[in-house]
Amino acid sequence: MNRTDIVVCGAGIVGLSTALALSQKKQNVTIIAHRYVDKPTYNDEYGSRIYAISASSQKFLERIGCWSNIPIGRLTAVIGMEIYGDAYSSMLDLSSWQSSVSQLSWIVEASEIERSLVKELIDLGVSWIDDRCSGYSDGIMITEGGKRISADLFIGADGSRSTLRDLAGVARSVKDYNEISLIANICAHGSHRSKAFQWFGEHGILALLPLPNLSFGNQLSMVWSTNQDIINCLNDINIDQQKSYIEKKLNEITCQRLGCLKIVSNEISRFNLTLERSSFIAHGMAFVGDAAHRLHPLAGQGLNLGLGDAESLCDILLSKAPNQNFGDIELLNKYSRIRSRQVSRMYFVTDALHKIFSSRFPLIKLARNYGLSFLNKAFSLNQ
Ligand SMILES: Cc1cc2nc3c(=O)[nH]c(=O)nc-3n(C[C@H](O)[C@H](O)[C@H](O)COP(=O)(O)OP(=O)(O)OC[C@H]3O[C@@H](n4cnc5c(N)ncnc54)[C@H](O)[C@@H]3O)c2cc1C
Repeated sequence: MNRTDIVVCGAGIVGLSTALALSQKKQNVTIIAHRYVDKPTYNDEYGSRIYAISASSQKFLERIGCWSNIPIGRLTAVIGMEIYGDAYSSMLDLSSWQSSVSQLSWIVEASEIERSLVKELIDLGVSWIDDRCSGYSDGIMITEGGKRISADLFIGADGSRSTLRDLAGVARSVKDYNEISLIANICAHGSHRSKAFQWFGEHGILALLPLPNLSFGNQLSMVWSTNQDIINCLNDINIDQQKSYIEKKLNEITCQRLGCLKIVSNEISRFNLTLERSSFIAHGMAFVGDAAHRLHPLAGQGLNLGLGDAESLCDILLSKAPNQNFGDIELLNKYSRIRSRQVSRMYFVTDALHKIFSSRFPLIKLARNYGLSFLNKAFSLNQ
């Protein structure tokens, strides 16, 4: 039987950063998860798992020494954002200088963050069991390979299908949006000028996020959250036909705002979209990231919230009194209280935005387009 103070179950970005933040403060942490990181890619090769990283997440990643390892050439600062409603004239144009910040967010590949976190964890010599959690009973975790690990606190960072959460019998509420996100990198004829773009309409929600330019053109990441009708059309055709179909739709939706758009990724990834929520804590356990909540990606906030969980939980655990155990209910309740407030806000805002922008009622459509134009004028007048 292995013994440690804290187990972190799961090695996504949230689990890795939780383990790193605690280990840097000399806490006894063991990671239980398969150890896999994408190889570095070069020049015109970009992964399609892309995140918009907020200022607070950047600060946390800086604090734990991860941000500075990411090659500067793989980071794109978002200095503006154009948001369109169904009517092309209804749009909101935001810029970083209006908000008095140097950038609204950073766009970065998931693999770059993961590689940087793993490097720091290896340099620190953090204990890592390359296995998966498959059982739990009375403070002992059992892995698929038959290892038994006891700890004061088990942190579930094992994603939306968290095994640990299920083993603890923690209930979860799930709302299925009946939508799928299609993800691929694209090349645009026109320059994105470090702006992000979003189109809301009957086609769903299309987001184009700026990426570093390729040797042969301007690159963006496409996240198109769309309905089952479009997915059904794609299911009946081969990958080349899918690409042509999506490119045609993209050019229609964007009204060629960025000129002609072409998919450059070999594959188009798909994600089911759900709104999920469960308790942040259970007896001797805390949950972080998608293991505790999952949102619609329209606001690009899922990982940012997860990093907020990681930072908050680590700060609370590191502030414990010498006589307190890491699984102490007072510490766990404090974590749950702080994060519930933060996550509830984002949970309701993204769901409400989704309701407003997916509605087909003419009055709501009119109101949302008018609202976007109104906000745009208000922002312009304030400049
Ligand atoms: C289309 C789309 C676009 C998005 N864009 C953004 C964005 O721009 N910005 C943003 O902030 N968020 C975004 N998100 C949300 C973001 O992807 C998630 O919130 C984030 O990946 C959650 O990270 P995590 O570490 O909690 O979970 P995950 O990334 O799911 O990691 C969980 C880890 O646990 C491991 N694991 C699973 N089961 C076990 C087990 N039994 N034992 C051990 N290990 C296990 C897995 O292998 C995995 O490594 C987006 C989501 C979607 C669907």
